[in-house]
Amino acid sequence: MDANIVLEKIEGMVEPHIAIWDDAFRILITGILSTRTKDEVTDRASLRLFCRFPTPEKLSKGSPSVVEELIKPVGFYKHKSHDVIETSKIIVMKYGGKVPDKMEELLELPGVGRKVANIVLSEGVGKYGLAVDTHVQRISRRLGLSTSDKPEETEEILKRKIAKERWNEVNSYFVEFGKQICKPINPLCDRCSLRNVCKYWRDHENSR
Ligand code: SF4
Repeated sequence: MDANIVLEKIEGMVEPHIAIWDDAFRILITGILSTRTKDEVTDRASLRLFCRFPTPEKLSKGSPSVVEELIKPVGFYKHKSHDVIETSKIIVMKYGGKVPDKMEELLELPGVGRKVANIVLSEGVGKYGLAVDTHVQRISRRLGLSTSDKPEETEEILKRKIAKERWNEVNSYFVEFGKQICKPINPLCDRCSLRNVCKYWRDHENSR
């Protein structure tokens, strides 16, 4: 099935995931904190962090041990404490306090990979981005939209298959669809309107 129609069908099943922040700096820092950490834990950690350090200038002067205490228990909190402070320093010194709006520049920031960079582009700075996280990767494979197990390849495949003006919608809808219906374990296929075109469903039909 056309990937654009897949996206429309998913939009018919769930509301989009709503990010906790809407400014580029907070989206970026929350993205760095989010790696291998549940959304609820990340969101609470970012709330504590921004109450104390609300701007790049303030966070760039933060003490690593204080930041560590604020962001615990996110995974790899010591490493991430270093990354968010160093990223803030670069934003202040190199970009005048403004989050850069180019993929190459974002990828140079400590702790920032393609997923976080794409989220900043699409949700923070008004550009196009297609962020492939664990939900987007799993759902794309199950539906046969991507055969790759590498998120960066899935990103390229989806970008070729989905109209550019819709890239920014993919992550927020796929994330919510992955949480509510196409769950990692025991997906709720009986509630899914994509069942008839789903590779995973076909492959597992006989085991039900
Ligand atoms: S049919 Fe099942 S596995 Fe396939 S997309 Fe729907 S919920 Fe996911």
